[in-house]
Amino acid sequence: MAGRNLSCFWEWGRKIVCVGRNYADHARELKNPVPSTEPLLFLKPPSAYVRPGSPILLPYYCHSLHHEVELGVLMGKGGSAIPQADAMEYVAGYALCLDMTAREVQDECKKKGHPWTLAKAFDCSCPVSDFIPKEQVPDPHRLSLWLKVNDQLRQRGHTSQMIFPVPYLISYISEIIRLEEGDLILTGTPAGVSAVQEHDEIQAGIDDLVTMKFRVEKH
Ligand code: MG
Repeated sequence: MAGRNLSCFWEWGRKIVCVGRNYADHARELKNPVPSTEPLLFLKPPSAYVRPGSPILLPYYCHSLHHEVELGVLMGKGGSAIPQADAMEYVAGYALCLDMTAREVQDECKKKGHPWTLAKAFDCSCPVSDFIPKEQVPDPHRLSLWLKVNDQLRQRGHTSQMIFPVPYLISYISEIIRLEEGDLILTGTPAGVSAVQEHDEIQAGIDDLVTMKFRVEKH
C-alpha cells in the first residue's frame, strides 16, 4: 500500500475491531460473565477516531459516557485465518486507545438484545495516541496502562491480565473477519471504568512509552 503512512493510521484507517471483557476484573465490575472459551467482539467505524488536540464530543443522547483505556494493536499487513504462531509478524505497532462507551445506552441495548452500535460506534468513540512502532514494544503483554480524570487515577491495569492474548485475538478475529493493513484491534480494558462529564480532562498513558490528553465537550 505505497504512499500510505502507517504512523498516521487514523487518517486513512480501516475498521476497528474491539474485544469486550478481556480483563476479568473489568467483566466482574460490570457484573458480566467472564469469557472463557471465545472473545466477545464488536466494531467501530474509522469515523470514530479522534486525536489529541480535538475534544471528545458527548453524543447528544448519552448521559453516562464511560472511559475504557485499552492497548490498540495496529495491523501492518492483511490476512485471513492467521495462525497464532505467525500472528506477531502481522503487527506494525501499537497505540493507546480509549473505547468510549455510552454506558446507559449499552445497558438498554443488552436488555433489548439490540446491537451496541449506539453505545460504542459514535463519532469520537475511539480517541487514539501517536503510533508506537513494534520495535519499541518487545512484549505487548508486559505493559502498564493508566487513566486519570481531572488528575485523579481511575484505571490502572497490566496487559499481562488479558484473558485472550494478542496472538490469540489476531488468529481468532482473522478466522471470522479478514484483517487488513491499517486495521486496529482494541484489546479490552482493565477495571476502574467510570463516567466523565462536560469539561472533564482525561489523561492516559502506557508506561513511559506514550501519554495523551483529551477534554470532554458537548456536541
Ligand atoms: Mg472496551
